[in-house]
Amino acid sequence: MKRKGILFVISGPSGVGKGTIREALLEKISDIEVSISATTRPPRPGEVHGKDYFFLSGEEFKKMIAEDKFLEWANVYQNFYGTPRDFVIKNLEQGKDVLLEIDIQGAMQVKNKMPEGVFIFIYPPDIQTLAERLCNRGKDSKESIERRLAACAEELRHVKYYDYVVVNDELEWAVKKTEAIIIAERCKIKNI
Ligand code: 5GP
Repeated sequence: MKRKGILFVISGPSGVGKGTIREALLEKISDIEVSISATTRPPRPGEVHGKDYFFLSGEEFKKMIAEDKFLEWANVYQNFYGTPRDFVIKNLEQGKDVLLEIDIQGAMQVKNKMPEGVFIFIYPPDIQTLAERLCNRGKDSKESIERRLAACAEELRHVKYYDYVVVNDELEWAVKKTEAIIIAERCKIKNI
């Protein structure tokens, strides 16, 4: 019987380093399909449509919701983000593993629809470090950072719904642990 692909979901609070872990992971694991999300947030300098995100207007995003084109979607700090469904389903059916990097609300929706996925929670070493990271990356205003930190305490409670937790205290080690999870899942008898 042909192997079905494995869905890996990397998720966690804002500023925890999910995106950085994903990029470092892709240098080590190339045979995985990375889902490109749609978003209504404007591109940051250097970001490319169709590579980093599909940058959509609010109207375009709403149309995709109405047409049931998303596997999940969420309002993340005043912008909409969603995972196009067809890409994920098509690749899994073709036996290819798929990686999503999404927020916790989105991950919970995917968990409901595809509980057989592998859910990895990237956990901050402590709130102080998370606050420093949010400040240092310079993407958010003071109010926005305060909002993200307040949401974080509630978000951390969701860790119990995940299969794995990776504390991002040291980037290289966190990437190694995430890579090990992917390798181990691929070695499971049921996934061969
Ligand atoms: P950023 O705007 O900094 O690229 O991403 C903001 C947040 O949105 C991050 O926590 C990121 O993981 C999350 N995100 C990115 N794409 C998606 C998606 O397709 N769905 C959901 N639910 N969250 C996403």
